[in-house]
Amino acid sequence: MALIRGKTARTLITFCVAVSVAWAPVSVARADSGGASPGDQPAHKIKQPDQESGGIVPGQPKPKVKPKKKASKKKATKKKSSKKKTVPKKPTLAPPTVTAAFPVWGVTWTYGDADMRFGAGRSGHIHQGQDVADAEGTPIVAPKAGEVSWTSFQDEGAGYYLVLRGTDNRDYVFMHLQKGSLKVRIGSIVKAGQRLASMGNTGHSTGPHLHFEIWLGGWYEKGGHAIDPLPQLKAWQKLPRRT
Ligand SMILES: [Zn+2]
Repeated sequence: MALIRGKTARTLITFCVAVSVAWAPVSVARADSGGASPGDQPAHKIKQPDQESGGIVPGQPKPKVKPKKKASKKKATKKKSSKKKTVPKKPTLAPPTVTAAFPVWGVTWTYGDADMRFGAGRSGHIHQGQDVADAEGTPIVAPKAGEVSWTSFQDEGAGYYLVLRGTDNRDYVFMHLQKGSLKVRIGSIVKAGQRLASMGNTGHSTGPHLHFEIWLGGWYEKGGHAIDPLPQLKAWQKLPRRT
């Protein structure tokens, strides 16, 4: 399918690449509320034995023993507070993530017959991607982290479609998406496995499926070209999904 792109789109993609926003989940370290000056109370209590022992009985052992006990409690309190400081660090560890994902989040998908493969003949052009068929509404997810560089609608061709510029500098193209299903817009930064849209049957399509392309060198940029995505899809289909 012949996709026509304006200079605006090329400029946008170039800009998006230059920006290359790194996104990471902000992990907020919880403020430790348990640090109410632990030394105050023990220090205060230590004074009391000293005052109480103020010359009533000249017996040596009692005053000596009591301050020692209080002192040990003081140390114990300090240890507890230091433990509390280390505990909140654990939740700040990065959650498990996936670095790649199969783009069709369904269970009944199929690559179909030879006519759905890369390089299959079409009227006036060749098929530049791999079709993956499943039920309408099946979630379409980002196979790699990246930035959505283009979304549009092409009535006689791609239908609702979007282009994702991966952090690996490859362009991933998703076509025939369900109307109104896009969860992202141009400029959206997405993680691998993040939902982009739903499988649809829009544009020039005879049944619900994802038309998926991988481009090297930029989607419809000078020197850019599509490659057969099937080997990559077969590698991704074995990967765990993002939950
Ligand atoms: Zn196709």
